[in-house]
Amino acid sequence: MNAQDFILQKKSEFSLKEEQNDSFSKSPLFKKWVQEGKIHEMENCLPKDFALALFEAHKQRIPAQIIDLFEKGKLAIGEINDELPNARYYKLGEHNYAVTINTGLIKFIYRVIRAYSTRFNSDESKISFEETCQKIADIFWWFGMSKGKAFGPAYPITEDQIIMASRFATEAEFFFLAHELGHVFNDMFKKSEVQDEDNENHEYIEEFAADRFALLTCLGLLSGGKPVEDLRHDIAYASCELALLIFDGLEQLGFETEKTHPPTEQRITVLREWLKDSCPSEEVYQNIIQLADANTEVYNNINAYPYIPLRSVSLQIGLKNRVI
Ligand SMILES: [Zn+2]
Repeated sequence: MNAQDFILQKKSEFSLKEEQNDSFSKSPLFKKWVQEGKIHEMENCLPKDFALALFEAHKQRIPAQIIDLFEKGKLAIGEINDELPNARYYKLGEHNYAVTINTGLIKFIYRVIRAYSTRFNSDESKISFEETCQKIADIFWWFGMSKGKAFGPAYPITEDQIIMASRFATEAEFFFLAHELGHVFNDMFKKSEVQDEDNENHEYIEEFAADRFALLTCLGLLSGGKPVEDLRHDIAYASCELALLIFDGLEQLGFETEKTHPPTEQRITVLREWLKDSCPSEEVYQNIIQLADANTEVYNNINAYPYIPLRSVSLQIGLKNRVI
């Protein structure tokens, strides 16, 4: 089946997204919000197909082979209005693929990251570290109890934090898209840079390879040597980890995912080791992971709230050599 037709068919299995509020999206206030990066705040004004918009917005970072496949119509990308927080890829035939991201994933990522963002510029923060952790726990708890309704408890947040939240959320959403594109890329070229030396994690080889592709894409390292404008490596990297932490929380709440992924601790540990390999010095690496470390600290304190069954993530350095 033609990739575009496949996406249209998938979209038709769910109700269409509500039409954008046209008059608002043409207003000066809306334009100002887009410029300021606060677009996630207005759910109904997000692009009609957010997955496609992410692809277009981050084309600079996506390898030429994937862009080429897309332009030839052999790869189609689309947002599906399904509340289940998931993203996946489909192999439709020889060199013919589709990648979908569900609306539920886009909404949930923003919901969680917006609460995380109350820790940015924490001197100006209007809520404490414990309150941030509790708000995130509430969001996960509500999502689990309501079987997939993103709920946003009210809490004070500064304008700067909202801008950071939108930026982080877009990067984390891009990590999910890039992970699925990684499956496409690795299938196309039948190459996995990750070698199966040791067996026990054989089932995870493809997942690690897709994570590696996603990491390098997010960091702008697969763009063919062209520098990527406005790319902050610490934000891009911390967002990759945030995406995995959010995914981990969803799995623990019992949301089914398309297939088994490696444990989050392993995925993040290996991500960090790849990041380290890509950094010119230890100092650069340490600077990049500071933001990610702050996020892990928040995540590991969510389990202080007994009504939410999330366990903490402990990173084990030196895992790469044992795992893959
Ligand atoms: Zn995967």
